[in-house]
Amino acid sequence: MAGKVYLVGAGPGDPELLTLKARRLISIADVVLFDRLLSPQMLEGARGELIDVGKSAGSHKMTQEEINRLLIEKAEEGKTVVRLKGGDPYLFGRGGEEALALRERGIPVEVVPGVTSAIAAPELAGIPVTHRGVSSSLTIVTGHEEPGKDSPLDWSALAKVGGTLVILMGISRLEKNVSALLEGGMAPLTPAAIVEKGGWVEQRLVAGALGDIAARARRAGIEPPAILVVGEVVKLSGQLASRKIALLRADAQMEESARLARDYGFQPICAPAIALQKRPIPADLPQRIEGCDCLVFTSANGVEMAMEREDIRSWLGEKLLISIGPKTKLALQKHGFSSEVPREYSSAGLAEMLKGRCQRVLFLRSAQGSKHLSRELEKSGLEVGDIPLYQVVPSCDPRLDDLLKEPGQVDIFAFTSSSTARFLMERAIELGLAERLEQALDQATVAAIGKPTAEELARIGVKVDVMPAEFTFPALLRALRRPS
Ligand code: SAH
Repeated sequence: MAGKVYLVGAGPGDPELLTLKARRLISIADVVLFDRLLSPQMLEGARGELIDVGKSAGSHKMTQEEINRLLIEKAEEGKTVVRLKGGDPYLFGRGGEEALALRERGIPVEVVPGVTSAIAAPELAGIPVTHRGVSSSLTIVTGHEEPGKDSPLDWSALAKVGGTLVILMGISRLEKNVSALLEGGMAPLTPAAIVEKGGWVEQRLVAGALGDIAARARRAGIEPPAILVVGEVVKLSGQLASRKIALLRADAQMEESARLARDYGFQPICAPAIALQKRPIPADLPQRIEGCDCLVFTSANGVEMAMEREDIRSWLGEKLLISIGPKTKLALQKHGFSSEVPREYSSAGLAEMLKGRCQRVLFLRSAQGSKHLSRELEKSGLEVGDIPLYQVVPSCDPRLDDLLKEPGQVDIFAFTSSSTARFLMERAIELGLAERLEQALDQATVAAIGKPTAEELARIGVKVDVMPAEFTFPALLRALRRPS
């Protein structure tokens, strides 16, 4: 008996925008065929075979015919197949063609609607596609067909239709599409915006007018997937878009931090300024651990790096473990170790906690860990050792360079360590963009996670507007939520 194929919409990119039905089908499918653009988290819970039709078969992208053939083949083996497609399967997704090919073979097909990027991407960027008194219609077109040539689209009619115009697949032909609308009589001052990667952590909005949107998009380095929205509704993004917060931490923490920032109502701009590099572990490590009474971890990163080492793990059970902050504690807990957290996440808090309980303290942390912390502990009579597990280095991440080219778009700069401040500024100087950054920092809200970070910012001449009472990232976001 033939199996069944579900053509399932996956939404614009945020895994939480999958429907409940999509989630359930992914978990019961024997095979899931998906496109390259889908986030790996969407496939969580899948137990069947996973086939990336965006890049499998060596490095070439499968053609539509190959995909249809594969769907038929798997279904005829009696399998339950999920064909996961971006957005909604029947909006420019070739879902209709796949359904027809399967029907022709007598294979049962069911379509599962998804959240389409045509509406969700503008929406997530603060643009309602219709708005009472502003726009009462929505036209969705493809921008992929050559205007005037092989396109059945009548661009001059589109230029006159009014309401909101949303153009999908239009980035490579942006100039041509915009010219076609202008030639059709649309005013160059008509508000226009591009939403890149709507619903992804990297989402960006570039807003302007029809006359300058192409130049703005090029300057900002917009890449697909992105959509163009034209119409008066674009102006609403000024009030409805969330404040943009630049996150500068290492890539490993970026995704979680971006999700948290969204939960607090911000629009994250992910631009790692730092990266973490492992350091060789000293040969006398076992003796040094054995010789101490207490091990201090100052970050979840430090914990993860230490856990990779069997010789470190095996010692931990016998020592008093201290975590500076709840994230660090959680990281240790994940590996089955309990630890204590000082009441205040600072040298003073730590000294107070250790008083009378232990004598020899060993830090397992970053090579650039604050010397202040060790000095203060020594002052209170403790013996302090330090094992650098990793060092913080400049990220060389292109996303940071993109940010530095357009720093004025940022409403809030979130500095989560002194190194994020230092390396952001150093990179700006390298690119000759320091002045632009300084201006942007001056106009934006600057948030520092704690005292050493605030001190580093002061050192490089940056004012600090917000510092939370508790030195954690969620506390920083909470402090930012209040109007400052
Ligand atoms: N079926 C999909 C559209 C497929 S066509 C849907 O309903 O969303 C692919 C085009 O969709 C891209 O070229 C881009 O214009 C748009 N697109 C898809 N995902 C997007 C996203 N997350 N942000 C912005 N545009 C997106």
